[in-house]
Order: sequence, then C-alpha cells, then structure tokens
Amino acid sequence: MKTEDIKNINDDNLLHVYNRFDLVLDHGEGVYLYDNDGTKYLDFASGIGVSALGYGNKEYTDALHNQVDKLLHTSNLYYHEPGAKAAKAFCEASGMERVFFTNSGAEAIEGAIKAAKKYFYLKKGCTGANVIAMDHSFHGRTVGALSVTGTEHYREAFYPLMGEVRFANFNDLDSVKALIDENTCAVITETLQGEGGIYPATPEFLEGLRKLADENDFLLILDEIQCGMGRTGKMFCFQNYDVVPDIVTSAKALGLGVPVGCFGLSKRAVEYTLEPGDHGTTYGGNPLVTTAVYTSVDIMNKTNLPEHVKELAPYLEERLDAIVNDYEIATAHRGMGFMQGLVVKDIKPVEIVKAALKEGVILLTAGSDVVRMLPPLVIEKEHIDEMETKLRKVLDNL
Ligand SMILES: *Cc1c(COP(=O)(O)O)cnc(C)c1O
Repeated sequence: MKTEDIKNINDDNLLHVYNRFDLVLDHGEGVYLYDNDGTKYLDFASGIGVSALGYGNKEYTDALHNQVDKLLHTSNLYYHEPGAKAAKAFCEASGMERVFFTNSGAEAIEGAIKAAKKYFYLKKGCTGANVIAMDHSFHGRTVGALSVTGTEHYREAFYPLMGEVRFANFNDLDSVKALIDENTCAVITETLQGEGGIYPATPEFLEGLRKLADENDFLLILDEIQCGMGRTGKMFCFQNYDVVPDIVTSAKALGLGVPVGCFGLSKRAVEYTLEPGDHGTTYGGNPLVTTAVYTSVDIMNKTNLPEHVKELAPYLEERLDAIVNDYEIATAHRGMGFMQGLVVKDIKPVEIVKAALKEGVILLTAGSDVVRMLPPLVIEKEHIDEMETKLRKVLDNL
C-alpha cells in the first residue's frame, strides 16, 4: 500500500485517541526499524519498552512460528506446556510464588488490586479497603488502573473512578504514612516511574514502604511493567534494591511484542488470595503468549542481557551528561539502565522527538519536559554513539 493511503485509511477508520508521528513502519532488523519507503531508523523507543531484543531474534521468532502451527489457544480450563514453562520462568526470575497471566499491563494492575482487596477481605473479614498510590504515577487506562494513576489529565473526564484511592508523593515516606489507616490494603508504586517523567525510587523510600507494609499488614505492589525485564540491569528493577514486593506486575517486554502481562504474588500474598471463581481471563496466558514469555526469559538469562545493560548503561549516562553539559536546553538526565530521560527546558520534548525522526532516530517523551529513551536492551556502544550524533544534530538545529 502507498504510504499516504495507509495514513489516510488509518485516520479515516480508527478512533482518534493517538496523535501519531508521521511515520509508517514496515519492518525491523536488529535495533533498526524501516518505514514504508525503506528509510532506516535507529530505535531508541522499542515500541515503548516492548521490543527488548530488537527485531528478528531467530530463537524468539522460531519459537512463535512453531507454536502458531501447533496450538494458539486453549482457554484457561486446560493445562498446556508453554503455560507451565512461562509460569516457572517468571516465578524463578522474580522470586514470586505464583503468577497470573493477563493480556495487557492495565489488566495486570487490575488483578493486583483485586488480589490486595481479597487479601484484606480474608484477613479482616470485611470489605471497604483503600489503596494508596503515588502522584505522577501511570498504571494504565482501564478504570481500576486509572484509579491508581496519579495524573489528572488522564482521569478528569472519567469520574467517579474506583473508590478509596489516596495519593501520596512519590519518594516521600511521610506522605504515605499520613494516609495509612486500618483499612489500607495496599500501596502501589512503580519502582521507577516511567510516563510521569523517569523518576527512580530512592532506596529509603522503597525500604520504608516495605517496612510500613509489614507493620500494618498491607501489600506492597510494585509496578514493573515498564522498568522490569532487564531494563535496569537486573531482571526486575526491585532487585537493584534490598526490597521484595508482595505483588509485582509485568507486561511490555515480558512477551517482546505479543500482548501479555502478568502479576506475580509473593509467599505472603498467596496465603490469603484469589481463589477459583474470583478472577479469570479467556485469552490470558494462552500457548502463543506464554511461548513468548518463557522464550524471552530464557534468551535474557542465556545471554546475560541484564548484565549487558548494567555494563553499558554508564556509557549512555556519560553521553547524556555530555549533552547536558553542552546544551543550554538540556538541564539534567535521570534514570537507571536503559530507561533514561533527558530533561529539557524552553521546548516541548515532542518537538525534539519529531526532529529526531527526521535525523533517523526514534525517541519518546515522558512527563511534560522529558525526552525518554527505552532502547532495545541489545544495543551496543556504537548505537549509543549513533544516537548521540543524531541527537546533537537535532539540538544544534533548534
Ligand atoms: C505501559 C504501562 C502500564 C499499562 O500497560 P498497558 O499494556 O498499556 O495496559 C502500566 N504501568 C506502567 C508502569 C506502564 O509503563
């Protein structure tokens, strides 16, 4: 199809909830994407942190091809081998005791909230639990997930949302303490805030939340949908800290492009939890997506991918430091591993992202003033250099 036709047919038929960039993507190879006219782009976005192995990893695509030919779907009424392998792989990688597979990140959050409510219900013998969430958080677009998302512009048209959610300030333990009462069933936070502007949790904050959860007998839910799966130099971001959550959510890079998320529950969380009849999904964890999950965990383990991120991330940070040093409009960088944000002033970050596309590099935005980078985890030093050269060209031309 002609490029213009593709854009027009999309615009004429899809609900317009995205302002798309002027780019029609056709295929990918390694860490590069190609548009419909054959132009090559260095990918520093990974489809919002999904395509962690880049494009065309043969072991991954072969596993999917084989499973497509074999069996796509069974429903959750029956056992299947890919489901068993994926559940074991996720529990081993995360240290969680049990896992439930979902079709998206938002659904993982929904399930996590329900698990926390059920924990409270079974322990306290009543309903009416409240949840504490963070300002500037992002947990997804479904009503439950939106209810714990602390960014007003996502929420304002949709009130009333789920009841009894209280918002604390991220990285401010006292603000959390002030909201806890005997009906608190969970605190939910991203370990490293993504959409809100790339803010890592401080160790004091996470350790403090862990302590509060233990003292007050509520669950600590860490949302690692964006920051998990190797992106911060460990399989899970919380593994960089001395903290283990009661529930961890995952999605995005969990399946590397097939729609799959999950929530994992700790030993403590599964003592009082969802039972047959409480929760379910028709597609969730089907043979295709769970093949993607166990294959991706397997490849990441075999290739020591989190370690690669850990080794190379300081170089990316050094290059971002150099940019901050050389350009007035770049004021700081924040992040961990290959989840980095360049803070800019006097310009909307989306203008930089648009200009970068013209130079052949794909970037993202976050918050109101951050250019976000979520490259495939398999990038090498030369790709960081290429990104820097292109980004400097963009900044030079502003
Ligand atoms: C993307 C994201 C979600 C929502 O995931 P979807 O698959 O879009 O529903 C939730 N939490 C965080 C931290 C995310 O980055």
